Amino acid sequence: MSFEWNRSEVLGLAKEACTQCQGYGLRRSRSGPAEPCQCVLRAVFRACFNKFRHCASLEKYVSRVRVEQVNGKDHKQIWGMKNEEFMVDFCRIAERSLDESEHRIFRFHYLLGADWKLCCRRLNMDRGNFFHMLYRIQQKLGRVFRELQPYALFPLDEYFGGAIHKPVQSNLLSMPSPARPNALKVPLRKVA
Ligand SMILES: [Zn+2]
Repeated sequence: MSFEWNRSEVLGLAKEACTQCQGYGLRRSRSGPAEPCQCVLRAVFRACFNKFRHCASLEKYVSRVRVEQVNGKDHKQIWGMKNEEFMVDFCRIAERSLDESEHRIFRFHYLLGADWKLCCRRLNMDRGNFFHMLYRIQQKLGRVFRELQPYALFPLDEYFGGAIHKPVQSNLLSMPSPARPNALKVPLRKVA
């Protein structure tokens, strides 16, 4: 079943001066329903990434990951907070949706904060290729962030308004509904 983008939603996200959609946010496809313009997908990505950065900065100063041991030996952890859940989802979705070379760039640039010069040197790419890849990454992830079922990352207010759920699994496209909606169990793993 394909996801249907809402006309007024894409209009609100589209870049006014976009040469592809003239600010309307939709592209006609030859067959099937209209597709969101790439400027819309990039806007979704940017909103999610800004939120990710915001969560990461909060984590340093304010919130602490609430980690609880469950069942002694098992060392399973419960992350009880929505911000952490969002950060885990953000990284997991990227890991799962991007191919290896895209994910390498994603990690360097978005998670580790390396600027384009450092990325190009480290990854042995030229500037044009690097930015071309960034666009591709943003568009790919923007689409998944919005279309993911049943818990899309975007719109952010819906994500953050919802109950805490199990984080996105690494290789499942849709998730079964969680048996315990208040418990979030993920292996504790450093993002960077
Ligand atoms: Zn556009």
